[in-house]
This record gives sequence, structure tokens and C-alpha cells, in this order.
Amino acid sequence: MNKAQIVANWKMNTTISDSINISTKLSNASLDINNIDITICPPALYLAQVHQILKNSSLKIGAQNIHSEEEGAYTGEISAKMISDYCDTVILGHSERRQIFKESNQDINKKFLLAKKFNLNSIICVGETIQERESGKAKKIVSTQILSALKSTSDFNKLLIAYEPVWAIGTGKAATAKDAQDMCSYIRNVITELNKNNVAENIPILYGGSVNSENIELFTQQKDINGALVGTASLDPDEFIKLIKKTKQ
Ligand code: PEP
Repeated sequence: MNKAQIVANWKMNTTISDSINISTKLSNASLDINNIDITICPPALYLAQVHQILKNSSLKIGAQNIHSEEEGAYTGEISAKMISDYCDTVILGHSERRQIFKESNQDINKKFLLAKKFNLNSIICVGETIQERESGKAKKIVSTQILSALKSTSDFNKLLIAYEPVWAIGTGKAATAKDAQDMCSYIRNVITELNKNNVAENIPILYGGSVNSENIELFTQQKDINGALVGTASLDPDEFIKLIKKTKQ
């Protein structure tokens, strides 16, 4: 099976000096991480600086988004090609992108195909709102998000999925490990149905939503949870280092 994956999503937080401080602390930390892949996703503006600091460490760098077109008249946007100079990975379809910036499943599919073209790992985020969960639609929503995002390709080599229930993101109310495992196992089955060549076994499925150093072990002990996408707890380097150390390898 894959290494555990811990991904830090700084969102639209930090200044340049915060980014330098956090990256330097992480790069200097003596982390015994042979069996964990750690990816740091700073704001796009700081990718070059964070890349400079982390380039000789084992930590990888990711972007939080790309545009769905390859290049052109898209003022203010950032392309897959641009980030590919600094990043291994890109987060796609985060619920904040879907809800606030109205990204559709089709946009996320276009971004996934572009990310592949530029040899980037894609972390495709899926998850239901509280209303969808309470009305029993969570699995239907998540399977639609996955099937749409993965359209037009059967090459799932550079794919990771993050199950992030919207109601658990930034709220301090994480899903139970049992509910998270149940959905991550369902996600693996959905991918198995799409591609029967045992690829689903090797696709890292992460849980995200109020993960911290106190609850990380509960999630990474689960059979179908291969790591975590971490927002708030990744902004404090001491807390994030603690979280990494507690991750089941
Ligand atoms: C996220 O940004 O994807 C996230 C899960 O945030 P938090 O850890 O703060 O809930």
C-alpha cells in the first residue's frame, strides 16, 4: 500500500514572513518520515519562496488550485503549467472553491485532465453538506463528484481523493472515524467500479475536516484512510509537527 499522506492547506492565510517561518521550521524539524509523504500547499504567491526553502528537504509542495484552461486571457488566474515549476501536486475542487467560487464538477474534470498533462498529482476533494448528509444523500453526492471529476480518462496514476465533509471543515467538529472510514471505503468501491484493474487499492484516500494532533491517529488507523488534508492545524508548525509524528505509518 501507499505511504501515508499528510497535506497542509494554508488557504488564504500567512504573510511572506509567516510562510518563510513555517517552512523553515518544518524543514529543520527532525521528522522520521520515511513512510509519510508530506505536502505543503501555501498561497500561490509564496510558492517560489517556499519551494526555495523546501527544495532540499523531503517535503513536497502543492498548489491550492489551477485554472481550468491551459493559458490565455484569464486575468488573475494561475495555470497548471505555471505551478508545475514549483509543485508536485495540486488540490482540486476544495469545497470552498465549489461553494464560494461556484466551481462545477465539469470544471474540476477539466482541471484534473490539465494537471495530468503537466505531470501533477491531483488531490480531488469531495464531500457533502450537512443538509445532504441529514437527508441521506451523502453517498450519492460524493459518487457524482467522483464520477464527474474522473470523466474521459482511466489513468488514475497521479490521483488522490480527499473526503472532506463540508460541515467538518474549519468547524472543530470532525467526522467520527467510523463515518469517515465508511465513506472512504465507499469511495474506493466507486473507483473500483470505474477501473477494475485493482488501481483503487493504490489510490490514497485522505480524510479532511478539523484534523489535529489529537485526532489524527483515529483517522489514519482506519483501513481505507491513507492520510489527511489539514487546514487550521497546519498553520501552527509545532502543532503540525506533532500531528505528523502521531500519524500512523
Ligand atoms: C481544509 O482546508 O481542507 C480543511 C480540512 O480545513 P480544517 O482542517 O481547518 O478543517
